[in-house]
Amino acid sequence: MATTEAGGGQLEELRGAFSGSILEPGDAGYDDARAIHNGLIDRRPAVIARCRNTADVADAVRYARAAGLEICVRGGGHNVGGRAVVDGALMVDLAPMKGIHVDPGAGTVRVQGGSTWRELNRETAVHGLAVTGGAISTTGVAGLTLGGGLGWLMAKHGLAADSLLGVELVNADGAVLDVTAESDPDLFWALRGGGGNFGVATSFEFRLHPVSMVTGGLIAHPLDAAGDMLRFYRDAADTLSDDATVFAALVHAPDGSGAKVAAMVVFHTGDPEAAQRELAPFLGWGSPAMVQVGPMPYPVMNTLLDDHYPKGALNYWISSFTAGLSDGLIDTVVDRFETVPSEMSAILFEQFHGAVCRVGLTDTAIPHREKGWNLLLPTVWTDPADTEACIAWTRDTHAALGEHLAKRRWLNYLGDDQDASAVRAAYGPNYDRLVELKRRYDPENVFHHNHNIVP
Ligand SMILES: Cc1cc2nc3c(=O)[nH]c(=O)nc-3n(C[C@H](O)[C@H](O)[C@H](O)COP(=O)(O)OP(=O)(O)OC[C@H]3O[C@@H](n4cnc5c(N)ncnc54)[C@H](O)[C@@H]3O)c2cc1C
Repeated sequence: MATTEAGGGQLEELRGAFSGSILEPGDAGYDDARAIHNGLIDRRPAVIARCRNTADVADAVRYARAAGLEICVRGGGHNVGGRAVVDGALMVDLAPMKGIHVDPGAGTVRVQGGSTWRELNRETAVHGLAVTGGAISTTGVAGLTLGGGLGWLMAKHGLAADSLLGVELVNADGAVLDVTAESDPDLFWALRGGGGNFGVATSFEFRLHPVSMVTGGLIAHPLDAAGDMLRFYRDAADTLSDDATVFAALVHAPDGSGAKVAAMVVFHTGDPEAAQRELAPFLGWGSPAMVQVGPMPYPVMNTLLDDHYPKGALNYWISSFTAGLSDGLIDTVVDRFETVPSEMSAILFEQFHGAVCRVGLTDTAIPHREKGWNLLLPTVWTDPADTEACIAWTRDTHAALGEHLAKRRWLNYLGDDQDASAVRAAYGPNYDRLVELKRRYDPENVFHHNHNIVP
């Protein structure tokens, strides 16, 4: 059994009481545990504390501080920036913490911090209930919720964080706090959008909503219809009810042919007849090359795009909210997509409207409440030889779109290389209050391997 240079004696003490496992370089399982979704991230923590319960997390935090080790936190391991894994740090790894308990009578669920949306959706669907999760199912509940959490149900039920009722949090002293709007309104406010800045969230309690069968799927047009389709989409999406959300994308055909297509991913949470009526204009527009839309359980809808984002593929993402969907923006994205260097990459428009936009700008730490679109460039590839070209294309495309973008960024999509101005644009008008609260709750900035709010 190896010991770390930093505080080897204490590490043996930590091992003694620990329910999970403590891994060091060379241990079986170490390499699996440090591998996250983005295959570009290849970092080697000094210690990986694979926690099984809250007491493990508290001990790990206290040990790291006593041993002078930096702390990074892994929930679902999906952040493209990869700050869940840091060279030489102690990684608080929540992956084994997957407890989920639904209280159907109260309409709530308590979920531990290592769970994914796929796991949570499965448990809540048994009761005909759901909470807004991400647009795909493999992301972690923890990181996604702490950063806001956009997804298919946000027009109807708000962001993931908008349904949050409480968080069990291990703070920088290793103390365990039960944070709710009643117990600590300021900290609860900060946890809804402040990312990993305030401690390790060991579990979350959400309010659930009745959701069972939904209607969803993909409508794909040949790329030469892309400009017209995006103009149609801009106008048609504007009148949708809270039941419906439609994302638009320039992608490659799912049949593996490599053909570039313009697509609309439709979603409707009302009954099938209402869905058919409201989605009819999208289904009826133009001459689609492919239509795969129909009723399905919500957890299935949440997996429709999963295959496009395989674990271990190489990822570099940039996103920004847009200033509307002007003709200039549409022409530029269509033009840029012609030169995309990888068949796994896309240009995606995520629609914000409905319940997500009825929450006040400063009611939670998430300031992105305007009706409109978030533009995402999720560049994905597998051959390391393509890395330079893929990163350059993403940056150049973002730069080319500059005049059409708003100065607002979605926290969950920020990369590792984005500067302080991008972090400010993610926290927006809530940044100053977050700094004040960071000074109160984590004055030493123990939790700084995140999109950091500097105290
Ligand atoms: C394929 C893919 C699809 C995505 N789709 C969406 C989407 O639809 N909607 C959306 O909003 N975002 C989406 N994201 C972004 C995603 O929400 C963020 O990357 C988020 O951070 C992932 O959470 P995680 O727990 O998996 O991440 P991790 O990589 O484990 O953690 C990321 C960071 O979050 C913090 N963190 C994680 N867990 C905890 C915890 N328990 N306590 C305290 N801090 C913690 C830490 O700072 C950590 O560095 C997507 C990302 C990918 C790669």
